Amino acid sequence: MIRSVGHISAMSPYALAQLDAPKGMPLISLSQNESLRPPSPLAIDAAAKALEAGNLYPDPDWGDLRAALSRLHGIPADGILCGCGSMELISCITQAFADEHNSVLAPAHAYPFFRTAAQIARARYDDAPEEDKRVSVDALLAAIRDDTRIVFVANPGNPTGTRIPRAELVRLREGLPRDTLLVVDEAYAEFTDHVREPVFDLVERGDTVVLRTFSKAYGLAGMRVGWGLFPLEIARELRKVMNPNNITIAGQAAAKAALLDQGYMRETCRETARLRDGLRQRLLQAGLNVPESFTNFVLIHLESPEAAHHADHALRAEGVFLRPQAGAGLADCLRVTISVADQIEIAASLLERLAKEGL
Ligand code: PMP
Repeated sequence: MIRSVGHISAMSPYALAQLDAPKGMPLISLSQNESLRPPSPLAIDAAAKALEAGNLYPDPDWGDLRAALSRLHGIPADGILCGCGSMELISCITQAFADEHNSVLAPAHAYPFFRTAAQIARARYDDAPEEDKRVSVDALLAAIRDDTRIVFVANPGNPTGTRIPRAELVRLREGLPRDTLLVVDEAYAEFTDHVREPVFDLVERGDTVVLRTFSKAYGLAGMRVGWGLFPLEIARELRKVMNPNNITIAGQAAAKAALLDQGYMRETCRETARLRDGLRQRLLQAGLNVPESFTNFVLIHLESPEAAHHADHALRAEGVFLRPQAGAGLADCLRVTISVADQIEIAASLLERLAKEGL
């Protein structure tokens, strides 16, 4: 038998949701934080046109997309790297900057892929307690060890949906050693742009990275396009680890067109916020514990892991798939992605019924 190397054979693969609706029932997937709308029609058109151009490899430097990102956000194009989803960037950052001699740190209820990336790189993974499902800068700073090389925080957080004010992020950065890389993962930033300040300027310090993605507000999850702003020396190292030609020709064209259609993206965010806040109010009225969310999902905090398991199974039996959160250390929680109104209506009614039955 041919064995994988020790640390890989000891790991489990990153768990994505298994979505099998009961026979004859339509599948309602509220589990992967996809957008409630398809991508902008301009993005669909651009992807098709890019494919019609012939059998070409994609631009390995993502030139057009980087120029568009640079113009829109007022950031330097040469600090931008694009990944096959921001997952590729998270993976490559960890491979390039951590190994078995050091450690990676994140908040207790962080996006679980940070842990997977650390495992692949053989780095130890530490987590710092949160306060009421909010990132605690004090706890992160207290958990720093001499060998902590990378700190990951998602803002807003997944699965918590909570937000870290800019001043707190700055305090975190200033409290970290200069040789510890801070990665601020802003996958859900667009859903809360109106209440937050961008943090791209922290990248100028040389020790901080900001990641974003086209998978959420821009509706391009299936195209796999993420990006980040990096200090130049860090970008140079990362390119050694990244897959050349990582983003398809259609993905690059679609992302650029989606970016230029800001009105469409904002409308997606408005509709998402409207349905999200409406769902939250209904669930609160039904007596459920649902913290305020700044993303395209809400987190329901149930009485116990058993109650979460029961609710998850009851909804699955009706073809509705939420996302259990044991992987993020929240076995008593279920996450609901905000999808179109009629799907949210079905999920809300089922959850109200379960709450009435005492869950
Ligand atoms: N970061 C966070 C916090 C996420 O929730 C996700 C997707 N679930 C990602 C990164 C990865 O997104 P993608 O690879 O699709 O860009």
